[in-house]
Amino acid sequence: MRHEIDFYWNESVAFHGHACPGLALGCRVAFDAARMLGVDERCGDEEGVCIAETDACGIDAIQSVWGCTMGKGNLLLKPRGKQAFTFYRRGEPEGIRIYWNAPRSDERTREERIEHYLKGPAEELYRTARVAVPAPAAARISPSLSCSACGERTAEPMVRLLEGHPYCLDCFEDPSRILR
Ligand SMILES: [Zn+2]
Ligand SMILES: [Zn+2]
Repeated sequence: MRHEIDFYWNESVAFHGHACPGLALGCRVAFDAARMLGVDERCGDEEGVCIAETDACGIDAIQSVWGCTMGKGNLLLKPRGKQAFTFYRRGEPEGIRIYWNAPRSDERTREERIEHYLKGPAEELYRTARVAVPAPAAARISPSLSCSACGERTAEPMVRLLEGHPYCLDCFEDPSRILR
């Protein structure tokens, strides 16, 4: 990392549009993960990948610090409702999962919380574990099928079949008794 965390914090706020504790935790984990993995800033442009288990504010800081985006395929969302993020370098078997478990103390103001999240001792904020990196999905271009109801072209893995006809998820009426 070429800069101190304040540099990335300012960039994250500019990207996200406001300063908030959730953004600060994303900035901190992205910053610390880069140091732990020994990668440079903006490594997401080339080799860095993040799997985020939340879609809250923090992932904007991760995009800003690491330069990884959903469009490039190196920011992956695995919605679990947890403030947890796995970072790894493409091609390496292991990465680091950071689980944010800082207690939400009401003694701190919003500004103090942001400061604590950015610069407080790591052991008060999160825990880390080495984790195996998921095997890369085989690169295939899936064909699109036209939905039998709305006619819109829909990628094959998202299509449901009813009596042999393809439907997009918005048009598919689930005949099963399973409530989703
Ligand atoms: Zn926010
Ligand atoms: Zn449709």
